[in-house]
Amino acid sequence: MRIVFRGTVQGVGFRPAVYRTAVSLGCRGSVRNDGSSVTVDIDKGEQFLETFLEELPPLAIIDSIDRSEYALPESVKGFTITDSSRSASEHIPSIPADTAVCPECISDMRHGRRKGYPFTTCTNCGPRFTLLESLPYDRERTAMAAFPRCFRCGEEYSDPSKRRFHHQTVCCPVCGPSYRLVDSEGKTIDGDPIATFATMLSEGKIGISKGWGGMHINCTLDRVGKLREWYGRRYKPFAIMVRDAECAERYVDITPEEMEQLTSPQRPIVLLRKKRDDETLELLSPGIDTVGVFLPYTGMQVLLFDILDTDALVMTSANPPGEPMITDDREILALGADMYLLHDQRIVNRADDSVLRLCGEDVFFLRKSRGNIPCYYQVDKTGDVAAVGAQENLAGAVASKGRIYPTQYIGNGEGIGVPEYLDEAVRLQIRLLGAEPSIVAEDLHPAYRNRPLARRLAEENGADIIDIQHHWAHGASLMVDRGIDDHLTVLALDGTGHGDDGKAWGGEVLSCTMEGYDRLAHLEYIPLIGGQKAVYDIRRLRLAIDMINGDESDTGFTDQETAVLSKLAGNSVGTSSFGRILDALAYSTGVCSERTYDGEPAMRMERYLDPHDYNEYSTETRNGVISTAHLFSGLKRSRDPTADASGIVRAILSEMVDIACDDAESNGEDRIGITGGVSYNVPITLMVRDLAGARGMDVVTHTRVPNGDGGISTGQAAIALNRL
Ligand SMILES: [Zn+2]
Ligand SMILES: [Zn+2]
Repeated sequence: MRIVFRGTVQGVGFRPAVYRTAVSLGCRGSVRNDGSSVTVDIDKGEQFLETFLEELPPLAIIDSIDRSEYALPESVKGFTITDSSRSASEHIPSIPADTAVCPECISDMRHGRRKGYPFTTCTNCGPRFTLLESLPYDRERTAMAAFPRCFRCGEEYSDPSKRRFHHQTVCCPVCGPSYRLVDSEGKTIDGDPIATFATMLSEGKIGISKGWGGMHINCTLDRVGKLREWYGRRYKPFAIMVRDAECAERYVDITPEEMEQLTSPQRPIVLLRKKRDDETLELLSPGIDTVGVFLPYTGMQVLLFDILDTDALVMTSANPPGEPMITDDREILALGADMYLLHDQRIVNRADDSVLRLCGEDVFFLRKSRGNIPCYYQVDKTGDVAAVGAQENLAGAVASKGRIYPTQYIGNGEGIGVPEYLDEAVRLQIRLLGAEPSIVAEDLHPAYRNRPLARRLAEENGADIIDIQHHWAHGASLMVDRGIDDHLTVLALDGTGHGDDGKAWGGEVLSCTMEGYDRLAHLEYIPLIGGQKAVYDIRRLRLAIDMINGDESDTGFTDQETAVLSKLAGNSVGTSSFGRILDALAYSTGVCSERTYDGEPAMRMERYLDPHDYNEYSTETRNGVISTAHLFSGLKRSRDPTADASGIVRAILSEMVDIACDDAESNGEDRIGITGGVSYNVPITLMVRDLAGARGMDVVTHTRVPNGDGGISTGQAAIALNRL
């Protein structure tokens, strides 16, 4: 029999696992890697498959298994692994992602020749993508090329009975990379680097540690105040790394679905509900009910927690605000930490920690990166395209051979070095996939900083450029996420995206296909007084609303300022953004008076939104415009704004859901979708579910592609593929 396995079968210990099963069953035959697939020629095929599928290597993901007749020649004795061959035909590479150090390797780090060695990994675990230069995944094309295997590691590599058989990055204290600890000036600090780092953290110092895809700033929880001062971050939440799942439960409440994510080999940061009344937790994410929690995933982090007397550390990406994470040892010294735990293994590809939260069983990726990238979404369109995404939470995407591959999370497009990082990441995907894009897709917004990259990519590949409306791309990204290729009516609830009419959209009901979209309805335009300034000074939103209502304003502006702003309002761009409505609501109810980081007012608003506790408000739609301003008339600050805030949000959603459901029904569908950055807000998504459910409609939510702008490039790529 000939068996062909397709999927993530390279760099995951697949062939050795085949070998071990075949030998244990006394089979004859061979296994080989064909670049994209693994082919097994074997005599007792059925018996082999039955056993092998029970014992799959943990990192393998099988997309398909093809069986065909094949008479194994009598001359074949025993079972062998033959060399990789890159077949020229239909080549779809699988690019492995980084995976948390496995329990066997953790035990190897506690005794034996790898005792205390933080780079211990095996075919079942360890960094992959962040070390990878090019394919196929072999040591000489990774950062480990600089560290030739020693004799004993060579023996493990060649022994089919060992877990490190054909493990490309096998290493040990004799031959592999190592850590060192340096002070603020870069001078080496004597002693065991990890143990000394742990001691210094316990003394209250702020340190930086180098991991797999980047570096983290670390300190103990009682130093959060000092960290905020030092790092210049007043309120933006920090994530914590805790020793293990049991310790996590001391800080947060965890559902079984959340626990599964927290302990998964991808080890994302999971946003979890804080246990109440804990002052330290409150300082980590002021005004917000959740805090980001993750578990150790590198050998160094495991060893660090072995030594630390505390069970949690603040762990946040080490980068100057808005810029990509630093990966260079010399550059990092400029951050001014007390000490740096560095190593000499080059980070080839940066990858920030993934961040997600759960809404029931649905996974909302706020950031899809380390552990989850590379990945792909199957689509039934062939051809090659590239997409450069939007501006905030930037990520790119490349589509080839019926799959869309998003890049890792890149950052905020306005940050220094961010467009360059996007350039690198998109080109890497193009190179790894051997893609030749014939269309490059970009956002409609004329001022986004990634547009020059789109120009260059198009010129170099002789490709066309297409501009895609932001919320249509959100809709398309949700369709890709859920494998819907015909039609979906969506609520696009978002911060800002450039509209066809030049206005700032973001509260839209769109009837979407991959060919185009109809804008069925949108929220009333409210002037963004002074443009972007109104996004940060949210008092201006309330002032604009008061002006629409003809109400007296109580926003703290002087009469003179009010006069100037009123004049300015006439020339300001209007916005239909749902995010801005939440900002105005946060200001008006006294929940938040300024925005110190992206999304802050809306995030602080979340704890006051309750799908079941609300006052009755109502609104109406005329000519596709849903009125919103009148809801604010008479709205005052109060100690508990829950019922009013929930009522207002629900009234607006109710109108949007009705319009969306009418459209879905007229298309013979029993579902609508919800997408955009505001859909991360769990109570809002639940309200939409309730309202649609009352009409017998299901709500399609994101679960693989990020809800927010991190998913835009995936939607753009799908739309571009459709143009081919
Ligand atoms: Zn391992
Ligand atoms: Zn070695």
